[in-house]
Amino acid sequence: MPPDLCNVAEPRTAPYMSAPRKIDFHCHSHFSDGSLAPEELVRLALQQEVTHLSITDHDTVNAYSRTLEALAAGEGLSLITGCELSCQWQRRNIHIVGLNMDLHHVGYRQAMQAQSQARLRRANSICAALQRLGFDVNLAAVQDLAAPGIIGRPHFAQYLVETRQMHSLAAAFKRVLGSGKAGDIKTNWPCLETAVDWITQAGGVAVVAHPLKYKLTLTKLRGLLADFAAVGGQAMEVVTGHQDPSPTRTLADLAQRFDLHASAGSDFHRPGQPWAALGHVQPLPDRCQPVWELWS
Ligand code: AMP
Ligand code: MN
Ligand code: MN
Ligand code: MN
Repeated sequence: MPPDLCNVAEPRTAPYMSAPRKIDFHCHSHFSDGSLAPEELVRLALQQEVTHLSITDHDTVNAYSRTLEALAAGEGLSLITGCELSCQWQRRNIHIVGLNMDLHHVGYRQAMQAQSQARLRRANSICAALQRLGFDVNLAAVQDLAAPGIIGRPHFAQYLVETRQMHSLAAAFKRVLGSGKAGDIKTNWPCLETAVDWITQAGGVAVVAHPLKYKLTLTKLRGLLADFAAVGGQAMEVVTGHQDPSPTRTLADLAQRFDLHASAGSDFHRPGQPWAALGHVQPLPDRCQPVWELWS
């Protein structure tokens, strides 16, 4: 069996799904900082033989539509609603993936509006911060780069490269937009508890995204997971993108220790990035409790 096929039991509520399952519960469309339209993502997922997909755009669920649901259903792809929420924990920018929310839930719709307003306010602050550093930034032009999606730091990075003020996206993040730099404005984000509440009130499962990406010490990471579980968080990503066995073991240990279910996703943004290819997700270790058990 190819390594990216999960050899797990069928969900009880989806008898039409044929084994083996292949999941990807973390990816982005052009409604945030991905390059593909949701329909293109679904087609790519089908090509990769993904059986269960969640599109988890940053702070928006605009990818989800009746057309998309009909396309997925017609092809036998199980589409799970999703979103990657930006929030703050101990002054750090943490990402919480929500899975399987009711997108019509009034509180959740208000939350999405609040996040999109927070992004617009933050974009103004990023623009001002970059101008203070001496960059020439036209916010409307950055917004054009983000269209039809919600504006984020990657669009500022792209703008700086396209206007030849930075030589690469990586350099733009390293010098001005990455963690702790002047353009990394995070004061507008809600706290961890609020983000978890938004998801769980809408019937979804809150998942700590890519726990090793925050570069926390193990003690701090344990603190994050303990706080997350204490406010009702139920799962964490144990497999994210192309991942070696050692971090997978570390994350599976942490999931067991904090009694969190396990999720897995590629964090796909665009074709041509082999470390985050859609559907290329290692199976969860057997000792993990798969996240889909929480809704199936
Ligand atoms: P934002 O959601 O606006 O805070 O932007 C965060 C996004 O920026 C992440 O989801 C990544 O897609 C992207 N990103 C973060 N760090 C880097 C980096 N060093 N190089 C390229 N993209 C990055
Ligand atoms: Mn992103
Ligand atoms: Mn993220
Ligand atoms: Mn992501």
